[in-house]
Amino acid sequence: MAERMQKFVSLGQKWPEKRAPKERATDFHEIHREFIAQKAADQAARCAQCGVPFCQTHCPLQNNIPDWLKLTAEGRLEDAYVLSASTNPMPEICGRICPQDRLCEGACVIEQSGHGSVTIGAVEKYLTDTAWREGWVKPIQPRIERSETIGIIGAGPAGLAAAERLRTRGYQVTVYDRHDRIGGLLIYGIPNFKLEKDVVERRTQRLIDGGVKFELNCNVGEDVTFDELRQRHDAVLIATGVYKAKPLNAPNDRAVIPALDYLIAANRVGLGDDVPDFTSGKLNAKDRRVVVIGGGDTAMDCVRTARRQGAESVTCLYRRDKPNMPGSQREVNHAEEEGVTFDWLAAPKSVRAGKSPAVKAVRMQLGPPDESGRQTPQEKPDSAYEVPGDLIIAALGFDAEDVSAWAETTRWGTVKADPITYATNEPGVYAAGDIVRGASLVVWAIREGRDAADAMHTYIQAQAKVAAQ
Ligand code: FAD
Ligand code: SF4
Ligand code: SF4
Repeated sequence: MAERMQKFVSLGQKWPEKRAPKERATDFHEIHREFIAQKAADQAARCAQCGVPFCQTHCPLQNNIPDWLKLTAEGRLEDAYVLSASTNPMPEICGRICPQDRLCEGACVIEQSGHGSVTIGAVEKYLTDTAWREGWVKPIQPRIERSETIGIIGAGPAGLAAAERLRTRGYQVTVYDRHDRIGGLLIYGIPNFKLEKDVVERRTQRLIDGGVKFELNCNVGEDVTFDELRQRHDAVLIATGVYKAKPLNAPNDRAVIPALDYLIAANRVGLGDDVPDFTSGKLNAKDRRVVVIGGGDTAMDCVRTARRQGAESVTCLYRRDKPNMPGSQREVNHAEEEGVTFDWLAAPKSVRAGKSPAVKAVRMQLGPPDESGRQTPQEKPDSAYEVPGDLIIAALGFDAEDVSAWAETTRWGTVKADPITYATNEPGVYAAGDIVRGASLVVWAIREGRDAADAMHTYIQAQAKVAAQ
């Protein structure tokens, strides 16, 4: 094994080729090209095959990374794919959009020893893209059909992961979503240059082909009540995500566009929809000076979308500095390469609309760390200045909408669910994904959807036993 693996000593870290910033900033295609087979095998062979694989413990799905890297290095790609898919219902999606530098790759021991991590995400993506091409991704075929039915509210990654798991066990699954397309933020939040939409659509088509039913344009609470769903189904999963944009709380902030309105419009245009607010210019960055307020991944998606729409300039205002940004450093680097200007240690105070629109800001400095260990930004006296901007976008995070009539909620408005089973206080009602943890990551939504589905199965089996007694 040592011969084939542990090549990190002699072989450097290599990513699939990244398209040049000038080229990629003019289109919405993904920025990395595909690994070629030999390169994927070589990169997989850099793995040290650790006895205690920290990569795996830092993957929310606990993917068996060392084993599928070894199989990839040996050229056993189908086996590697089957193993990777055994814990992850969407490996090619996670391989594309997990912030690996904060998860599996960040914990990789050869990264820690200064050799540069194994490119785990890129290999995972390569394996599953190859599997789709080669026909190794099999249809969902339940071994038995069960009569019990499950209602899932929300067709994002948490709902879809649960739907796949439950349908595979033979349940009759219906997913309700208020949007007209399946995928939640995979389809309408995350831009194409990180995740092309056909990658999501082939996954959802597999669920449809496998017998999962979708009721789209169905807003639960308006088009159908939650109680009706509980009567209709043996168990219900709440997987509605979090969508209430955190406000800027600055005078005149009605002139500010919420990040998700802007990104949904851009994604809809990419999918071929007619979007009047884009056509009118309201949600289109072309030839405009764009200012994005915020330092997370959503802010990075906005600045990079604006570049691709042909903005005259794009500036990101963030109140801390680069090392203290909440977003993935890789995303920030991509944005910098694509020509985005970062105005670090800058906090907006108000917005001026009208003839010479601008964000009025002040300079910040970092003070002592707070209880989370992050340095607290403090205002510098007499440091007011202005950033001109015709399109001002706020990406300050999301809160939960009010679902307290459905299940008990926390003081943040998220659903209070058992951390192992995701059961709520209501019998037969479960919850998973962002609506439980607050705005988080796709991979966590998948993990929770998967675990909630298993707990729902146990619950329904127990109910059936009681009924039979
Ligand atoms: P969602 O994906 O939000 O899906 C919830 C679904 O529920 C939606 O389709 C919604 O329409 C539906 N719904 C809500 N209320 C109702 C109702 N009353 N009736 C019917 N349907 C309803 N994570 C990453 O890991 N990597 C990234 O690169 C990344 N980029 C992101 C970029 C942006 C712009 C945003 C906003 C988030 C990003 N995230 C990223 C976070 C990630 O998208 C979420 O953590 C994940 O999608 C949460 O999954 P979910 O299934 O809980 O909710
Ligand atoms: Fe890494 Fe995400 Fe894949 Fe886990 S699912 S191995 S965290 S890329
Ligand atoms: Fe391989 Fe890195 Fe995981 Fe160790 S931590 S098993 S080197 S990928």
